[in-house]
Amino acid sequence: MPSLISLVVPFYNEGNGVDLFAQTILPVLTAIPDTEWELVCVDDGSKDDTLRRLIALARQNSQFKIVELSRNFGKEAAMTAGLDAATGAAVIVIDADLQDPPELIPQMITAWQEGAEVVLGRRVDRSSDSAAKRLTASWFYSLHNRLSKIKIPSNVGDFRLMDRCVVDALQQLPERQRFMKGLYAWVGFRTVTLDYVRAARNAGESKFSGVALWNFALEGLTSFSTLPIRIWTYLGTVGAICALMYGLFIVGRTLFMGNTVPGYASLFFAVTFFGSIQIISIGMLGEYIGRIYMETKQRPIYLVRKIHQTPASPTT
Ligand code: UDP
Ligand code: MG
Repeated sequence: MPSLISLVVPFYNEGNGVDLFAQTILPVLTAIPDTEWELVCVDDGSKDDTLRRLIALARQNSQFKIVELSRNFGKEAAMTAGLDAATGAAVIVIDADLQDPPELIPQMITAWQEGAEVVLGRRVDRSSDSAAKRLTASWFYSLHNRLSKIKIPSNVGDFRLMDRCVVDALQQLPERQRFMKGLYAWVGFRTVTLDYVRAARNAGESKFSGVALWNFALEGLTSFSTLPIRIWTYLGTVGAICALMYGLFIVGRTLFMGNTVPGYASLFFAVTFFGSIQIISIGMLGEYIGRIYMETKQRPIYLVRKIHQTPASPTT
């Protein structure tokens, strides 16, 4: 009995890459013995012809299931939509731009058949990403893992295989602000890691600019660690002790030596320094309060406009 496996692919303005993606991935999938495939393609509110091309694929091939979101919700939400729509005994998440090598999929399946519940693809060579992206990514991982108890393996993206039990576990996590790399790490399970070299994009350009990546990193840090918010208590205490000692020193100096120097410079420094620390800590609080605000609204993570799928013909 072949097992049904779902491939979850988020698409956002990938019009030029849709057909190449299908042409590349289908032969790889059909060559894997003892498997049946379902391709859950999520159109994340693309503004180009991505959706039209995906629907055309679905008309020809009943393996395709197109989840059309009502607008652009971002990759994390799109992946969540795909995972919710996937019905397979295992699910593989892969980018639409073929930066994750489909050749790794057969190895992932083998590892899964041998008992792994999560199979990760780890990028051993990210030379296709810009130097700045690589550097900031490595900073992010080391900072995150220092702050948080949940360790995210470095250089592991969203390209992974998950057993049904892992997908079910992910669906139990109620948070609206979904930092998937953190959620994947949080659920745990028996994990195997495969190495690969990250290719360049097949078409179009990356949707994650500097600002988007910065927001993403902040999301990750604040979703999985409260240290940034707690650290201000300690810094404040240390600052207060220093200020107190300095105050005592000034009082002593005035008593014993008279009022020699008017302390304009030190006063100015103290006011601006502690003022800025307060502003930073208020900002930090704001990050968390903003997140609490978003979570309490209990809005759905994404909205589906329509699911496009051609029923399989009885003969096949
Ligand atoms: N993506 C998406 N919604 C978005 C942005 C991106 O579904 O709002 C998809 C995109 O189509 C691609 C994957 O997420 O399949 C990875 O995006 P990209 O290649 O731009 O990211 P990078 O590889 O540079 O990290
Ligand atoms: Mg990419």
